[in-house]
Amino acid sequence: MGMHRRHFLVSTAALAAGGMAFSGAKMVWAVPGEISTPRSGAQLKLSSQLGVIPGKSLEEKLEKMKKWGFDAVELPGDIVGKVEMYAKAVANAGLKISAVCWGSAGGALVSEDENRRKDGIRMIKEVLSAAGELQSTGVIYVPAFNGQTKLTNQEIRKVLLDILPEIGEHAVSVKSRVLLEPLNRKEAFFLRQVADAAAICRDVNSPGICLMGDFYHMYIEEPSDFAAFVAGGPWLHHVHLASRIRVLPGQDERSFVDGFRGLKWVGYQDYCSFECGVQGDREVEIPKAMAFLHEEWEKATLPGVA
Ligand code: MG
Repeated sequence: MGMHRRHFLVSTAALAAGGMAFSGAKMVWAVPGEISTPRSGAQLKLSSQLGVIPGKSLEEKLEKMKKWGFDAVELPGDIVGKVEMYAKAVANAGLKISAVCWGSAGGALVSEDENRRKDGIRMIKEVLSAAGELQSTGVIYVPAFNGQTKLTNQEIRKVLLDILPEIGEHAVSVKSRVLLEPLNRKEAFFLRQVADAAAICRDVNSPGICLMGDFYHMYIEEPSDFAAFVAGGPWLHHVHLASRIRVLPGQDERSFVDGFRGLKWVGYQDYCSFECGVQGDREVEIPKAMAFLHEEWEKATLPGVA
C-alpha cells in the first residue's frame, strides 16, 4: 500500500528559532491536491459478506460468488486461528479477500476502564496480524456502538489519538491497516461521517490507520455521498453496499450514482462489499443487484475523468 504524500509544516516557533529546528510541534495533513484534483483508474470491484450469499458451506458460497462475478469476499472477524482454512478456501475459489469485518470488541479500546483498553489493543493487533497474512485490505473497526463506553465524544477522540499511532505502526509491520467505519447515530454517537474519520486519519498520520464508507449509514448521515468519499479519499480502502432500508442495492429507491462519482473522483481501486439483507430469492436477486450496480457505475460520469 502506498504512503500518501504529506506536507510537513514546521511550527512558526521553530522557524523563528532558526528554521532548521524540526523539534517543535509538527502539524501534518494530506496534500490539498490529493483531494481537490480528480484521479483516474477507479474500478468497481464487488465483494460480499458471507451471510448474504446462499449456500450450506463456505466452499459452496465462495463457488457461487465466483460464478456470479464477485472479485472478493469480506471475511468475518473470527480469522485469528483460521488463517490457513480461509486462505485455502478463498484461493481454491479463485477469489481475493477484501476487508475483515471485526467491529468494536465491545468498545474495549475506548472503554473508561484502562485494563479493557489494553485488552482491546492486544485483540486488534492479533486480528491485524491475521488479516495481513490473508492479504486482506484491512480490518473494519468501530470504536464503540452506543452504550459500549461511558466516555464522551471528546474523550473517545483523545483516547484514539493516543492509541492509534502504536496500532497503526503494528498494522504497517504486518502489512495490514485499520479501517475506521462511521455508523449512523442510532448505532453510534461517536464517528458518524466519513470526513470525521478522515480528520482522525489525518491527525494520526499513519498509513496503518485508514477508513471506509457504508452507503446505508451514509444515506442517514451524509449531505453528499460524493463529498463524503472525496473527503475520505486519501484514506479510503473499503465500501459497504446496502440500500436505504439495508437490503440489496436496487431493491429500493437508493441511488449509488453520486457516491460512485466520488469513488471515481478519488480513483478508488479497492472493493465495494455487500452488507445487507435480501428481499426475495437470493439466487435471483443478488445477480440482479450486481447488474444494477454496474449500471449505476456507468451512470456516474465525471467531466474530464476516465
Ligand atoms: Mg457497514
